[in-house]
Amino acid sequence: MTHHILVTGGAGFIGSAVVRHLIDHTPHEVANLDKLTYAGNLESLASVSDSSRYRFYQVDICDGPALDAVLAEFKPTAVMHLAAESHVDRSIDGPADFIQTNIVGTYTLLEAVRRYWNGLAEESKAAFRFHHISTDEVYGDLEGTEDLFTETTPYAPSSPYSASKASSDHLVRAWQRTYGLPVLVTNCSNNYGPYHFPEKLIPHVILNALAGKPLPVYGDGSQIRDWLYVEDHARALVEVVCKGQVGETYNIGGHNEKRNLEVVETICDLLDELVPRAADRDQGCSYRELITFVKDRPGHDRRYAIDASKIERELGWKPEETFETGLRKTVQWYLDNRDWWQRVLSGDYRLGRLGEQA
Ligand code: NAD
Repeated sequence: MTHHILVTGGAGFIGSAVVRHLIDHTPHEVANLDKLTYAGNLESLASVSDSSRYRFYQVDICDGPALDAVLAEFKPTAVMHLAAESHVDRSIDGPADFIQTNIVGTYTLLEAVRRYWNGLAEESKAAFRFHHISTDEVYGDLEGTEDLFTETTPYAPSSPYSASKASSDHLVRAWQRTYGLPVLVTNCSNNYGPYHFPEKLIPHVILNALAGKPLPVYGDGSQIRDWLYVEDHARALVEVVCKGQVGETYNIGGHNEKRNLEVVETICDLLDELVPRAADRDQGCSYRELITFVKDRPGHDRRYAIDASKIERELGWKPEETFETGLRKTVQWYLDNRDWWQRVLSGDYRLGRLGEQA
């Protein structure tokens, strides 16, 4: 069956991977609804934007009437909701946008979708899916070294970002319980891979290293994150929206627990192999020498780790990349796609947007 899938936040890091996956590997029609904040980049969709199965709407999820118009025109059979403010450091410096987009925006989208869904014929209503994409950060910190987040771990968010995502998860579940909207929720660990905005740890380290700049590591670098290659996540999300059980939550993770310092050191080692620092200029020194420890982020969670056995057991999904293969691919991608990230660093990726100056 061919679906009409509306992807919110499809110009972002994970959303663009989902759109590329849907166009490249499925027969489905895809609409990308995105406000194009600083994090949205249509250049990440260049490989699929000419497809007759792809269309784009520049819309804010806080704008109910605009959402109504898109839903009436595109007539989705499923919504995959990824639009969000997503950067923890930004949420600490300025939480307002996170409350607005992640909470008020999700509420506005849920209401628009409910109006649209109420108008569908019974069969289409039953087949409809609202898939909310969330994070493992809603579960807070793990104390023990063996503990894992499961789908029933109580919520204990630490940052304004994770608190706003936790709030949106609760809204989505309440819209099912109260109004019967057929929802699915996924909570995923840290993603990495191609087209990642340079403010996030892995691309930030790669690009600073290439520029010979310091590689900042928060605190002593012992915080543990569970890393998932973004294309594995995109594949998991499409499995969930097509085959998941309504009302269920699925945790998605890569079984790749790494200390932040280990991540930075591994990137340095890959760069030493692929683009060694010039011997005459730097006596052949390693990129590791650029590592600099900086003051820790307030409220920084120590460890996240996901138990992904439910999605593996029930939907047969498994990550294809190990951290080693995925990180090598990622570093190679940044070496091969300098134009993409240079246009992000210079701000040129925003040229030509509605309401923006060149
Ligand atoms: P991102 O910041 O790269 O992209 C977010 C996208 O949403 C951007 O294209 C932006 O323009 C758009 N957007 C923001 N506000 C909007 C609004 N008001 N209306 C319409 N569009 C808007 O984020 P990402 O890393 O791709 O994350 C996508 C989703 O996955 C988020 O909901 C995030 O919480 C979740 N998630 C991310 C990770 C991760 O490691 N990056 C892990 C688990 C879950």
